[in-house]
Amino acid sequence: MLGYTIGRQCYDLYHNGDAVRFRRGLIMIIVMQENATQQDVEDVVKRIKDFGYSTRILSGEFRTVVAALGDARDKARLQALESLKHVESVMPILKPYKLCSREVRAENSIIDVKGVKIGGDKLVVMAGPCSVESKEQLIETGKSVLASGAAILRGGAFKPRTSPYSFQGMEEEGLKLLKEVSEATGMPFVTEVMNPRDVELVHKYTDIMQIGARNVQNFSLLKEVGKMEKPILLKRGLATTIDEWLMSAEYILSEGNNKVILCERGIRTFENATRNTLDLSAIPVVKEKSHLPIIIDPSHGAGYWQYVAPMALAAVAAGADGLMIEVHWKPEEAFSDGPQSLKPPKFEALMKNVRKVAEAVGRSV
Ligand code: PEP
Ligand code: MN
Repeated sequence: MLGYTIGRQCYDLYHNGDAVRFRRGLIMIIVMQENATQQDVEDVVKRIKDFGYSTRILSGEFRTVVAALGDARDKARLQALESLKHVESVMPILKPYKLCSREVRAENSIIDVKGVKIGGDKLVVMAGPCSVESKEQLIETGKSVLASGAAILRGGAFKPRTSPYSFQGMEEEGLKLLKEVSEATGMPFVTEVMNPRDVELVHKYTDIMQIGARNVQNFSLLKEVGKMEKPILLKRGLATTIDEWLMSAEYILSEGNNKVILCERGIRTFENATRNTLDLSAIPVVKEKSHLPIIIDPSHGAGYWQYVAPMALAAVAAGADGLMIEVHWKPEEAFSDGPQSLKPPKFEALMKNVRKVAEAVGRSV
């Protein structure tokens, strides 16, 4: 896998006769006409490649956009493509994040996870324990969140813990349990990958790969998951600005994986009454800047179960595309994040209110 990346970089390097650091210096987008056929798109892609650029195709409901990545000094050649019959316009993307920006794609991206669509009118709730601890714990929690209306099961098998002496997760054993419970309940699942070395392993089992807050700027990890097929849930870091977070998403998209779901989970501020400060203003800001879906994790944001439900409802009201909620059948015995985990009856009550708020803002669950 690594060899391929290096190979690709060299290809661009030799082809353009330019330095590697210019490889992705520019992104122009070539907006196809609404009536352009697959053949027209392929023709444009071939021309762009012949100029020495690499391409990414972003297909929308009405039109296709081809992004050309390469050296800024050749941009006049790209601009000339505007004279082709099936090309509507050619324009440079000026924002630092490009493939994930609204400029490239005006419509919202909808990410399909085994039929569960994230980013559409229907909200998607992901729920489950912080850590996978045992089969019994996972199956009981999984069945209860499914009955309350969750669409995706969550659970950590590789845990990023502040202390090396805390529980580090069940690793592959945990992935196997997640797969088993996912199959038994029919819910796809999301789980974290912490290390580039484990990407293939986690990818083999999971339906969505989670990049945790602490790894949001682990660029080697972002590049690895960007080469994979499955959707990526990218958490915001404890101290990353929205622009930095979108740049991290850009790393994944620039490797070819367009299926990124953003997840705000609280940032670190001077406030210590809550574990983090949940930045709900990230929702409208991200919606303006990017076409990617954004979900909210009020569990890590608040840090205490009492505050989780109000923040979850506020997130839905503010336009979130979904929620990630930690639920544990026995929070007092949890190996991690017990204080912020809801018991199944509390989660059920929350889901009832989520439905009401969703309806009030024109969404469903
Ligand atoms: C988690 O989802 O369990 C987790 C560790 O989240 P974060 O990376 O947001 O702290
Ligand atoms: Mn947790």
